[in-house]
Amino acid sequence: MSETKPTRLMAEVDFGRDGKQHGYVRLYHSVHESAYGFIPIPITVVRNGAGPTALFTGGTHGDEYEGQVALSNLARTLDPREIKGRVIILPMMNFPAAMAGSRTSPIDAGNLNRSFPGDADGTPTQQIAAYVTQKLAPLADLACDLHSGGSSLNYTPCALIERDDDAARFARTKAALAAFAAPLAYVAAGSQGTGADRTLTGAAKRLGIPTMGSELGGAGTLNRDGLAIAERGVINLLAHMGILPASRAVPGATRYVAVGGDDYFVHARESGIFEPLAEPGAEVKAGQPAARIHTPETPGSEPSVQTFARDGLVLVRRIPGRTVRGDCLFHLGTDIPAP
Ligand code: CA
Repeated sequence: MSETKPTRLMAEVDFGRDGKQHGYVRLYHSVHESAYGFIPIPITVVRNGAGPTALFTGGTHGDEYEGQVALSNLARTLDPREIKGRVIILPMMNFPAAMAGSRTSPIDAGNLNRSFPGDADGTPTQQIAAYVTQKLAPLADLACDLHSGGSSLNYTPCALIERDDDAARFARTKAALAAFAAPLAYVAAGSQGTGADRTLTGAAKRLGIPTMGSELGGAGTLNRDGLAIAERGVINLLAHMGILPASRAVPGATRYVAVGGDDYFVHARESGIFEPLAEPGAEVKAGQPAARIHTPETPGSEPSVQTFARDGLVLVRRIPGRTVRGDCLFHLGTDIPAP
């Protein structure tokens, strides 16, 4: 590991002060249009005395809206007098991407959730990751990063955790997931070479902090069921942590699913126009048609039909109609016992 350079980002808020503060984390960015300007990353800190700290982030991917709205509502409504401890809220963590409604930043094409632990001297997206790694995550007893499927995927709204080799931390993660009380929870295998070690979850794990997240919908829009799950979930987490009174919790049953091997996925075998034959939330059977891929550019051509390889619950489906060989069209989940 190279020596870690200190972040250059500066928060306008004082993390040690009681009460509610709205402000910005300043990422100075000298460009043609604004020589001495900064990128204003919105932040709210709500604190009342000693106690645990919850870190809530949304807009890690800018085209995922439920978390941005749930956390904006939380920042507006949380009353410091009703809490014990501290709540740090960043509804638009990759602010340039969030303002653009884009997964990645329009400034540097950076995917914030593949940029951890970040680089204090890197691109704006890498600088945000470095700031969160160095300054925010170490303050937190629990980090909750709210995602959805973005523009190209649509999820059955669910909460999400990763398995963890650290049994003590995983016990805390599981307890947080149960407290969140989403109707559906996806328990993902641990970091598996898809860049998961470069996510906020990966960074938090290295700091020893339990994390949970979500996949609240997608399709480039705001899923109101997903929003309701997030709004209830963040209050439930705060009650679980003792930051809000336990009486604020709204319990609910959770169905747990996992994603296994290749047979859970339907990847496009041909390029063309994707006609989905199932929707998120559907229970499907092995051999059931999943998609037709049409090639109207070849008159008289038969569509290619793809089937599900196993039984399961449709967790996610692809959104754009144009598809190319190799795109993930669907993946399934199957029931597991509560982890
Ligand atoms: Ca995402």
